[in-house]
Amino acid sequence: MRKNIIAGNWKMNSSSEEGRSLVKGVLDGIHELKKTTVIFSPPFLYLKEIKDVINNRENVSISAQNMSQQENGAFTGEVSHSMLKDIGCDYVILGHSERRQYYGETNEIVNEKVLKALANNIKPILCVGETFEEYEAGKTLSVIKEQVTKGLNSVSEGDMSSVVLAYEPVWAIGTGKTSTPENADNVHGEIRKIVESLYNSSVSNSLQILYGGSVKASNSESLLAMENIDGALVGGASLKVDEFVGIIKSSEQ
Ligand code: PEP
Repeated sequence: MRKNIIAGNWKMNSSSEEGRSLVKGVLDGIHELKKTTVIFSPPFLYLKEIKDVINNRENVSISAQNMSQQENGAFTGEVSHSMLKDIGCDYVILGHSERRQYYGETNEIVNEKVLKALANNIKPILCVGETFEEYEAGKTLSVIKEQVTKGLNSVSEGDMSSVVLAYEPVWAIGTGKTSTPENADNVHGEIRKIVESLYNSSVSNSLQILYGGSVKASNSESLLAMENIDGALVGGASLKVDEFVGIIKSSEQ
């Protein structure tokens, strides 16, 4: 039985104080987590203090929003795996469409980052998803196949238990448009088939695949009820206590 993950990607939002009060509010609003891992993904600067606010609460973790593929050295502005590990960061979001679109991250770069994270015991949340043009042109599955296959290149079968995938149709991110639960479930099912063909059914059946794209408290229940959807990667709604708590509660049902 796969557990759910509800991950909040704050992107470049919040102040230190707003972040701490958001996390306190969410943690006060939820009970013991039985079926869900909750992840907060604040900007790098706040990771450590958010970790401290979480204070070892069971099934609650922090994630970075990005990570350098380099080891260390003269890479101004970058943050390495060892720095993330140093502050106790368990997860890292990689290949988010905003990184691909605005910072030129190719599947090859994303793959280097995935391998670097895994080699250093940080769990990658690998994001894949088609643009609106690709969706309209019926290319969703071919785009996903390429992103999944290249993103997981050289990842060993053993390491796959540390990988999380997130399907985020680019046209649904921050737009208020959501894929229907049936359509999202269908793509998640296809991702499972791709992963099965790359590895085997045991790997694909245990892989957690999150859906992302305008998830909110009012639509999370129907999305999370789908067989192949194992949680959500949430942007805008993760910045509001009531919304994020509502999504977590749908996951715990
Ligand atoms: C995201 O950025 O990963 C995301 C899904 O954003 P939103 O929920 O705002 O669409």
